[in-house]
Amino acid sequence: MSRVSSLSWRRAESPGLILRGARTVDPRAGIDEVRDVVIRDGEIAELAEPGSVEAGELESVEANGLLALPAFFDPHVHLRTPGHEHKEDIETGSRAAAAGGYCGVLAMPNTAPPIDTAEAVQALGQRAEREASVPTGFLAAITRAIAGEELTEMAELGAAGAVGFSDDGWPVPSAHVLRRAMQYQKLAGGVLALHEEDPDMSGDGVMHEGEVSAAVGLAGIPPVSESTMIARDAAMAAYEDARIHILHLSARASVEAVELSKGAGVKLTAEVTPHHLTLTDEEVRSLDSRFKMNPPLRSEDDRQALIEGLRSGTIDCIATDHAPHATEDKEVPFEQAAMGVTGLETAFPALFTELVLPGVIELELLVERMTAGAEPFGFDVPTLAPGSEANAVLIDPEAEWEAGAEGWESRSENSCFTGRKLRGRVLMTVVAGQVAYRQRSFAMGVAA
Ligand SMILES: [Zn+2]
Ligand SMILES: [Zn+2]
Repeated sequence: MSRVSSLSWRRAESPGLILRGARTVDPRAGIDEVRDVVIRDGEIAELAEPGSVEAGELESVEANGLLALPAFFDPHVHLRTPGHEHKEDIETGSRAAAAGGYCGVLAMPNTAPPIDTAEAVQALGQRAEREASVPTGFLAAITRAIAGEELTEMAELGAAGAVGFSDDGWPVPSAHVLRRAMQYQKLAGGVLALHEEDPDMSGDGVMHEGEVSAAVGLAGIPPVSESTMIARDAAMAAYEDARIHILHLSARASVEAVELSKGAGVKLTAEVTPHHLTLTDEEVRSLDSRFKMNPPLRSEDDRQALIEGLRSGTIDCIATDHAPHATEDKEVPFEQAAMGVTGLETAFPALFTELVLPGVIELELLVERMTAGAEPFGFDVPTLAPGSEANAVLIDPEAEWEAGAEGWESRSENSCFTGRKLRGRVLMTVVAGQVAYRQRSFAMGVAA
């Protein structure tokens, strides 16, 4: 089922492009070969033998030595609109997405006020049509004001264009309330995207509970705070025959809970973030609040379980949980700092550098999991298969750059990768045949 109509963006016309001589990799299209990617009328017209197609009116882009991949899809970002536009808005957030190689993002409703009315959903869609560089969808809240008590009018919100439902930022602590949401979901359609955490167990924790939290003397959030809620909600989803998507898995016990539920036939999907796949709570020894997010960075054993879950398919997709914050919310003592990190502009380079180059996972797997986030929400997964909508990203796999050194497209700079040397740079993002992003050094048709 494709519901592209509920994604909004600033669409324009483009005559088309030929990306010449790139290593073209798309596991879904079953290709890993040097090709000329011919883009015409917004579609992948063909994956041609290099040099075999005349450019004519198409823009010819020299892509020798570059990677051409299907553009990525992020089912979990925070665009901070309305209410916190000093952190991000639709224009800056979607520009960051385009710069990260994304052709679609889904935004969470924990804004100020939260998105819990049909009018608010429609207003966001209209704004995205004017401001968004990439197709953007909006989830609506499960409960009014994300207070966890009273359900929103889910059917009405769905009819207004909400692409799913979430109280992200918070769990739905009441089993009774979530169970009723599952019953309504069958009428309203859409997916329930769940931030899984037992607030009683998390208490006032600010980092992973373990050796490091004991050493630095900070209150910890135990992994079972997450895994027990996943087990509860998966059991309820099975009972109610509901569809749930588990946001940002962080712990081994959580991967095991998802694996068990999938094995039992529960209709559930799960995501993991680039930071949980590449970093651990060891980073928090620095007490640098750029490493503060919820769920927290966990142990090396948890990280290994997340990688294994990504490999096995227990974890369906990679989502950034891009969570911009203003400097004044972060430059305070660790305990008081806001939870969350940006992620759209570093997702591919961080995972390519930390997991693909050292041989931990294959490039094909990374591409598959960075595009697969469209599927749980009923959107077409980006692919370079001829005849598909032309959503492609060109990447220089040799380019080394220091994250943050040239600033960000995002309005915020709370990246946990700032200062790191990363390999792999997005040079161009094509969305529905239109150039949505071109890196400064990547001039018209000439690689820098
Ligand atoms: Zn969350
Ligand atoms: Zn989130």
